[in-house]
Amino acid sequence: MLPPSFDLSGKTAAVTGCNVGLGAAMADALAGAGCDIVGINRSAPDETIACIERHGRRFFDIRADLSATSAIADIVPRIEQSVATLDILVNNAGIIRRQDALTMSMADWDDVLDVNLKAVFFLSQAVARHFVARNVPGKIINVASMLSFQGGIRVASYTASKSGILGLTRLLANEWAKYRINVNAIAPGYMSTENTAALRSDPVRYEEILGRIPAGRWGEPEDLGGAVVFLASHASDYVQGHTLPVDGGWLVR
Ligand code: NAD
Repeated sequence: MLPPSFDLSGKTAAVTGCNVGLGAAMADALAGAGCDIVGINRSAPDETIACIERHGRRFFDIRADLSATSAIADIVPRIEQSVATLDILVNNAGIIRRQDALTMSMADWDDVLDVNLKAVFFLSQAVARHFVARNVPGKIINVASMLSFQGGIRVASYTASKSGILGLTRLLANEWAKYRINVNAIAPGYMSTENTAALRSDPVRYEEILGRIPAGRWGEPEDLGGAVVFLASHASDYVQGHTLPVDGGWLVR
């Protein structure tokens, strides 16, 4: 028997929010495995384009603000103008608002739920329709969080959105496995990106978090590379509805 294949040559992956942070690192890893990348970003992903091209892969630049959920219907038709068939969607873009639950505003609730959950569902729906219409298999990879499993503190809308991602990943896997669409998620632990800048600039919180990570270090964006390539590749064809923590052991502590 041949070993499982992680090769993504000839595949195309759309990655939301890949101009910086975890999205940029996952696009880098996918391109390293042979994949062309469609970046869906609000602003110019110049460094990511250069990185993808260093791998000898193509980058297709789609600009969209995922908080304008009415605009999501246009994204797949725009992708189809450049790419015949999409194979993989990584729903990475996300935001966080830190506020006590007693004082969190409706705007801080709606803004986070719109980008982190509503856009993920409707973009997944549009991409799944693309897969089904072409009768091709597909991979959808959502980005969950430790707060898909834990309560967190001062991040009510974020916890609601990421707990929702865990359930949505299971539901979509249930409904779409019959179309050869795998829906799974990655739950990053505490990673050094803009999303956690406030935590890392607070020396007490930084040390508290570091102290309970069994791996003894915060995660780096590159730590997600293996998981995203696995979930995008044939190696994961029989994995459905799973949320894979990449957390240095945080959840098993
Ligand atoms: P980041 O702030 O560096 O990057 C967020 C990305 O989302 C950026 O590319 C940003 O432009 C994009 N984005 C935000 N709002 C958007 C919108 N309206 N339209 C289009 N794009 C938008 O943070 P990150 O840590 O790289 O976060 C990536 C994902 O990982 C998010 O879903 C986040 O919740 C999740 N996550 C991060 C951590 C962590 O420790 N950093 C842990 C768990 C989960």
